Amino acid sequence: MSRPIEREAAAADAPGGSEEVVASDSRVRELREALRQVEDRVERACLASGRDRGSVTLIVVTKFFPARDVLALIDLGVADIGESRDQEARSKVDQVREQVGAKAAPAVHMIGQVQTKKARSIVRYADAVHSLDRTRLVTALDRASGSAIAEGERLGPLDVTLQVDLDDGDIERRGGVRPGDAPSLADAIAATEFLRLRGVMAIAPAGAADDKAALVQAFAALARCHAQIRSSHPTADWLSAGMSGDLEEAVEVGATHLRVGSAILGSRPTQR
Ligand SMILES: *Cc1c(COP(=O)(O)O)cnc(C)c1O
Repeated sequence: MSRPIEREAAAADAPGGSEEVVASDSRVRELREALRQVEDRVERACLASGRDRGSVTLIVVTKFFPARDVLALIDLGVADIGESRDQEARSKVDQVREQVGAKAAPAVHMIGQVQTKKARSIVRYADAVHSLDRTRLVTALDRASGSAIAEGERLGPLDVTLQVDLDDGDIERRGGVRPGDAPSLADAIAATEFLRLRGVMAIAPAGAADDKAALVQAFAALARCHAQIRSSHPTADWLSAGMSGDLEEAVEVGATHLRVGSAILGSRPTQR
């Protein structure tokens, strides 16, 4: 494919509004190579724990990256993307669906902390929300999901996972319920009409990147929490854990959904 130089330059620094929707050839190569490397890691991790590659969904976290990267990832076979901010996600998903159609668009997983006032917006484009961590949000999403279904803007209930807090002590609040409070929140989700409890999600505790033993211990606690919830909610079989730095450990404890951003897209302009 040949394209005028100016167009590639425009693609590199187009401002938010009039965004170029075609990734440059070099960006496509970069994404392809990074995706291949992550895919290798996932396959090796599955092999090491005797798991089927098909039991693990790779969610590519595209927050902070433009729609053209998502379109390139779709061409590379990506079927699930993760986003964390409503406004950014909504306009990106709109652009992507406009380009490829709803059928070819990837499933959208909201993985960041959700404000209750964003519920009405999120249920109109998200397939799943991973970060449910309080009853107020359960109520807001359930109501919003019900309205969206009634208005023909959703086909069915919203898949959700409840977020478990693996941090000991609140040094850095990243959301999530204490493992001890997870079963009652799970019951509350399961009792709603328009949410479907799919499992649990967690982010590795702060500092775990430098302390593999602590990481493995935290993920094991998460797996136990998940098992407890599954004993009363057998269909809640998603274990959403594992990011760029710890996907191997997550696969080892049984993660079914990996959320990988920077290892595929590169470092984000602003970390959050
Ligand atoms: C940003 C984010 C990720 C991706 O993290 P990387 O380290 O870039 O792979 C995963 N999960 C959540 C909840 C995130 O906010």
